[in-house]
Amino acid sequence: MRKIIIAIDGYSGCGKSTTAKLVASSLEYSYIDTGAMYRAATLYFLDNHIKITNPKEVEEALKKITIDFRFNEHTNNSDTYLNGLNVEKEIRKMKVSEMVSPVSAISSVRKKMTEQQVKMGKNKAVVMDGRDIGTNVFPDAELKIFMVAEIVTRAKRRQQELLERGQVVGLDKIIHNLEERDRIDTSREESPLRQADDAILVDTTYTTIEEQVQIILEKYEECLNNT
Ligand code: C5P
Repeated sequence: MRKIIIAIDGYSGCGKSTTAKLVASSLEYSYIDTGAMYRAATLYFLDNHIKITNPKEVEEALKKITIDFRFNEHTNNSDTYLNGLNVEKEIRKMKVSEMVSPVSAISSVRKKMTEQQVKMGKNKAVVMDGRDIGTNVFPDAELKIFMVAEIVTRAKRRQQELLERGQVVGLDKIIHNLEERDRIDTSREESPLRQADDAILVDTTYTTIEEQVQIILEKYEECLNNT
């Protein structure tokens, strides 16, 4: 069977990663959460008090950052490691969510993450989710999905995810964070969040995860049959 790259981009809280993970497991593809990589870099910057307005400091910090994913047999998922330490829980905290978009807008940060992502997808058979996968990381990906959903739905999903990790955060705070990230992610100079011309739009406001997975698997079949 021909192996392809499936790029899933879109806004936070549309169910991208949950859907991408399930699609990957059903196709026996690997799943790469590129948002986790930007979050891990942000955690490093926060912990080491890196001034993100100082390009030299940022460059030096980037040299000291190694990010990888390792399978966790207890959760059956991949965990994110920063310099050999499991930071999966830490990178999901609000303090990281509040800084990740400004960090992700820095050109040298994007360059480093993108280079690693290109390497991770070079053998195909990968589902990669993020903001610029179909537009920048893999502009030739065979299947591109762009996910959108109404803001309150997105915020409620994010709130539930945080709750499942033991963090209680008010809906207003989450909405504010999502809107602020949308603003920065869509307006940054370097590979801003936007739908690729050849991406399929999927609105997940009223769909379940199972339906989202189904939609993508159907598009995958169509893609294999048509090319
Ligand atoms: O997907 P997640 O919400 O964890 O992503 C966190 C942040 O990482 C996004 O808001 C965005 O600023 C950044 N990001 C990015 N490019 C990607 C993936 C994530 O800029 N490919």
